[in-house]
Amino acid sequence: MTVQTLNCLLERFPKVGICELPTPMRPLKNLSRHLGGPMIWEKREDLTGQGMGGNKLRKLDRVLYTAIAEGADVLVSGGVIQSNSQRQVAAAAAMLGLDCHLAVYHGRVEPPTAQYESSGNALLNRLYGATLHDVKWAGDRNGLVESLAAQLSKNGKQPFVVPYGVSDGMGAVGYASAVAEFALQSKAAVFTPSAIIHCSGSCASQAGLVVGAQIALPECDIVGIDIDAEPKRVRADVVQFVHAGAEILGLPIVEDVEDKVEVVAGHAGPAYGVPHDATIEALKLAGRLEGMTLDPVYSAKGLAGLIALVIANRWSKSDHIVFVNTGGVPALFAYAEVLSV
Ligand SMILES: *Cc1c(COP(=O)(O)O)cnc(C)c1O
Repeated sequence: MTVQTLNCLLERFPKVGICELPTPMRPLKNLSRHLGGPMIWEKREDLTGQGMGGNKLRKLDRVLYTAIAEGADVLVSGGVIQSNSQRQVAAAAAMLGLDCHLAVYHGRVEPPTAQYESSGNALLNRLYGATLHDVKWAGDRNGLVESLAAQLSKNGKQPFVVPYGVSDGMGAVGYASAVAEFALQSKAAVFTPSAIIHCSGSCASQAGLVVGAQIALPECDIVGIDIDAEPKRVRADVVQFVHAGAEILGLPIVEDVEDKVEVVAGHAGPAYGVPHDATIEALKLAGRLEGMTLDPVYSAKGLAGLIALVIANRWSKSDHIVFVNTGGVPALFAYAEVLSV
């Protein structure tokens, strides 16, 4: 099977048109030389479009088609104050002319600084016109969002609840489109990627990559770095969304899918949203050597995981691997003091 097969399958699921694709891919020559391992490429998923980009827009592009088709007039979502997902939902709502109500969880992450409450994504959510509802984190990711949606319905609105992190079967289908770009861009640069490495949180990005790679890049490993300090939960969720995504696409469920889902533990630091030394080192190294902007909650932990795998000789010098910059830059400013940069 090929890129054309993947694109044909995906074309059956219309988009709302909020993404600017394909995103660029570029070689990280200085970082690769510094590490002395494989050639590392950066896929710029921080440049997916409006609202300062990020990997959620690619998922929203397809997930929100249903919302519009159902006549929704307000998007409802839940996440922490510095959630990139919330920010992209707020930007998508603005672009589509919908209202946006966000349940903002307090207490999941100990605010590291005063900026955490007001700058970065918190500031952008307000800028994009979202209405924020402060709620206490109870571990129940979806309950609070559901009650917010019920309240909006009572008031005569037509809410559409965006799944947590824009992760469900259709979110995975949306993200599978990235694989077609990896396949074409690597072919144009005359290499076949040995692995695609990214950080995994709500899991439909990894699920989409696993499903898409089966069709268009079967030799390529998809390596998810756990940033939640919950590797078992992450792996189970990826597997669930692989099944859900494959079902939507009408693909046979691969029997060894469990073996194909690789979630690497040990790089999340003490908890979600808490950067540790390796996170900060990776973030600074990428900035200094490549002018790259990573974030301390997601992508820098992902790069820390990638660096550890390179040091452990997972790949040879002749390999090419792709690091997905999933785009969480606004959160960087909420952590400026902690990073002491
Ligand atoms: C959400 C997010 C991820 C993780 O993607 P999932 O699909 O939720 O697993 C990675 N990086 C950034 C910057 C994110 O915002």
